Amino acid sequence: MKLPGGVWREGCLHRDVVFRSVDGHLEMALAEAAGALHDIPSRVSEALQAALAEVGSQVPDWELVDALSVGDRQFLMSRLASHLGLESVWLSATCGYCHGQFDFPLDYGAIPVKPAGEGYPFAEVLLAMGQVQVRVPTGADQRAILSWPDEQRARVELARRCIVGESSALTDDDIACIETALEAVAPELSTHVAAPCPECGGDNLLEIDPYYCLGRVGNELFVEIHHLAAHYHWSESEILNLPRWRRKKYLSLIDRARGMAT
Ligand SMILES: [Zn+2]
Repeated sequence: MKLPGGVWREGCLHRDVVFRSVDGHLEMALAEAAGALHDIPSRVSEALQAALAEVGSQVPDWELVDALSVGDRQFLMSRLASHLGLESVWLSATCGYCHGQFDFPLDYGAIPVKPAGEGYPFAEVLLAMGQVQVRVPTGADQRAILSWPDEQRARVELARRCIVGESSALTDDDIACIETALEAVAPELSTHVAAPCPECGGDNLLEIDPYYCLGRVGNELFVEIHHLAAHYHWSESEILNLPRWRRKKYLSLIDRARGMAT
């Protein structure tokens, strides 16, 4: 799989990524990532570090997934949902035209992505202080601006962080220039999906949560480990080593045996 943007390392862009195969260890790590940390950028970094086997032929650490661009991180989380078997998710919506309720299936593996622009991850902008180079925002930037409760201050801080090298105070025009330049070059996952109403045919736009799979994996894991350990006397680690389909298969056999016994 290729990232829509990629990681910039030693003068080259690295775009190849590989997910780990789905077993109990991955599901446990994702459940822990979703539950342990308070802010979303940290949870996304934890989840991606657990889920990715390779980024640009390198085993990713926390620093590397934190340094992925926001668009790449959203792309990866949407494709992770699909990798985990959550590809067809039913969203509930209220039609904006007839106000009827309807459900709409969303395939996380197929959400459109705008590819990175020429020059990614950098762009040149002319500010009041002169010509500067800026780079697209990352997960680390998202987390850094969380401490600014005021939205305008967070905007200024994000623009300042994206300047490569030294910078002086930014004017409002500078910030707008930086944002426009970065939007042109940054990859982007679609934030909305067209959902026609089955009753009136009205064209509704539903908002997509790119981080949908956070907190939706591993909820049943402890119950499943308990059943398998009680039945087969396997250790927790042996159970977590099983690919998910094999774990589910054994659980269905236990269920079937119970059905026969009653
Ligand atoms: Zn309608």
